Amino acid sequence: MGLIEECPMARREGPGAPATGIQLRPDGAFAFGFGLERDSLSGALVDLSGKSLWQYKRPVEPGERPADTLDSIAAAVRSVLRSPRLRQVRGRTRGLGVAAPGPINLADGTIVGPPEFPGWEKVPVVSWLEAATSLPVLVDNAATAAALGVEWQMLPAHGSFLYCYWGLGIGGGLVIGGEAYRGSTGNVAELGHVVVNENGRPCACGGRGCLEAESSAAAVLRDARQHGQFPNIEAVANAAASIPAVRQLLEKAAHQMAAALVSAVNLTDVPEVIVGGAHFAAVEEIFLPILRSVIEGQVLRRRVAPVTLRTAPVGEEANALGVAALVLHEQLPHNSSTGTHAARDPRSVHADGQAREGRRPPSAKPLQDPPPNEFAGTGGRR
Ligand SMILES: [Zn+2]
Repeated sequence: MGLIEECPMARREGPGAPATGIQLRPDGAFAFGFGLERDSLSGALVDLSGKSLWQYKRPVEPGERPADTLDSIAAAVRSVLRSPRLRQVRGRTRGLGVAAPGPINLADGTIVGPPEFPGWEKVPVVSWLEAATSLPVLVDNAATAAALGVEWQMLPAHGSFLYCYWGLGIGGGLVIGGEAYRGSTGNVAELGHVVVNENGRPCACGGRGCLEAESSAAAVLRDARQHGQFPNIEAVANAAASIPAVRQLLEKAAHQMAAALVSAVNLTDVPEVIVGGAHFAAVEEIFLPILRSVIEGQVLRRRVAPVTLRTAPVGEEANALGVAALVLHEQLPHNSSTGTHAARDPRSVHADGQAREGRRPPSAKPLQDPPPNEFAGTGGRR
């Protein structure tokens, strides 16, 4: 199938013929990933090693019609597939993934009217793009995809982590043992709708005092306009050095985000929290010391083992990379016990709570035997 190739291996001591290694061929398969955000659309074409061969980015104006957004995705895909420079990609492109803000319906591939995302109520992204590109298409939650993109590109130290996306909206992704945990419908780790102020502002989700309504870039930008004219969150962050009230707004947002993250770590017992997002770099200098001191000082597990906090080295493109990884995982043969397509059905989530489609596609490392299941048959071995 052209997916693997031989590779040299170190000569082992002892009898027997020298072993031949095999590894994935980076150019054995390709996938497109697109990240749809409230103010931008990004895209990437990746190979089996996770390397990006093509990237795309454009602003999305408020009120842009979903049909126009989807048209531009289809046009970008067609132009790549026609490009002489990327001739090797034709015939080996396995599909196209779209990462979108939740809530989404994994089973039928629709976006279900995300808060603050007008016009995207029940948009049939999968069927529309399949017809326009003739490629298999999947849609998934943006923050879950971004968490997988981060996992694919940076290999977190522990394999289990909570990812928090901070931008105009706030989202979360939960990776446990290298696999995305998806809950029962794929709408998991919605950190933006953790309540941090029970008497706070109404939230687009219908609740009140959610983290997203109180502390997102959009919320901070709105509050900062009492103190001056700011076109974006980057301008607000710059003003924090000279206007104490603006600095206090950012510090308050960081404390509310820290409170939500402490609760999330206490619920999940993850050893690592990774924060990223299109606009987080602007506020990092103020946010990170607060997040670090509150999380490290308050999570219950700190007396047993520390929690590390890091920023994601992949920024806005993380969700496009992650959803491309999901395409490769779904479309390539693997020895998952669920098969490839059943896993898209939320009803097929495993008894242990983990659907298998969240697995990171194998990297270009030499193949190894899977690790033994440490929970199987422990009675006899312990
Ligand atoms: Zn909410």
